[in-house]
Amino acid sequence: MLQRGSGSTDELKPEQQLALLHACAEKRSLSALRRSHRLLSSSTSSHGIAAPVLLTLATLYIKLGAHGDARRVLTVPKKKPAAAERRAAAYAKVAELHDQIRAAGYVPDTRHVVHDVNEAAKARALMHHSERLAIAFGLVSTPPGTPLRVIKNLRICGDCHNAVKLIAKVTGREIVVRDNKRFHHFGKDGVCSCGDYW
Ligand SMILES: [Zn+2]
Ligand SMILES: [Zn+2]
Repeated sequence: MLQRGSGSTDELKPEQQLALLHACAEKRSLSALRRSHRLLSSSTSSHGIAAPVLLTLATLYIKLGAHGDARRVLTVPKKKPAAAERRAAAYAKVAELHDQIRAAGYVPDTRHVVHDVNEAAKARALMHHSERLAIAFGLVSTPPGTPLRVIKNLRICGDCHNAVKLIAKVTGREIVVRDNKRFHHFGKDGVCSCGDYW
């Protein structure tokens, strides 16, 4: 089976895969077992090696004294929790939006940042205002064209108001921000229903 090379195990049933592994064990050949392992990995890449086969593989590795290989076989790669993934995607989206609206004429109004830091840091601070993170989160979590609604306990700051107008425009999304004073309907045309008086 090994001579036939990679891809040849496509049609192997799990019991045949096990037979292949057992043959390696009988020969007490670690190199043949490793080759079989590679062969199984490459021919089952889409769904991975079946659990019973993996378990046999680990057992045989241990029998042949290759404890490191056994451990690697049994270590399941850790998945990032979905929420953490989307959070990371939202931060990436904030940065991407920032570039897009900059290109569309946005100039950060750093009067809305009180910290005593340089201009670049102030622009970054504005970029991460809660409503913009919430909008970015909404953008990465919903299908294109879905209107977004954001509720904010404080009054939306002037810089975010400017930024969200452009975000609505560049993304082609209607965005509604309800702050503690009123509703702001940001249209795809880049205009807010409040007429910039609020
Ligand atoms: Zn703001
Ligand atoms: Zn408004």
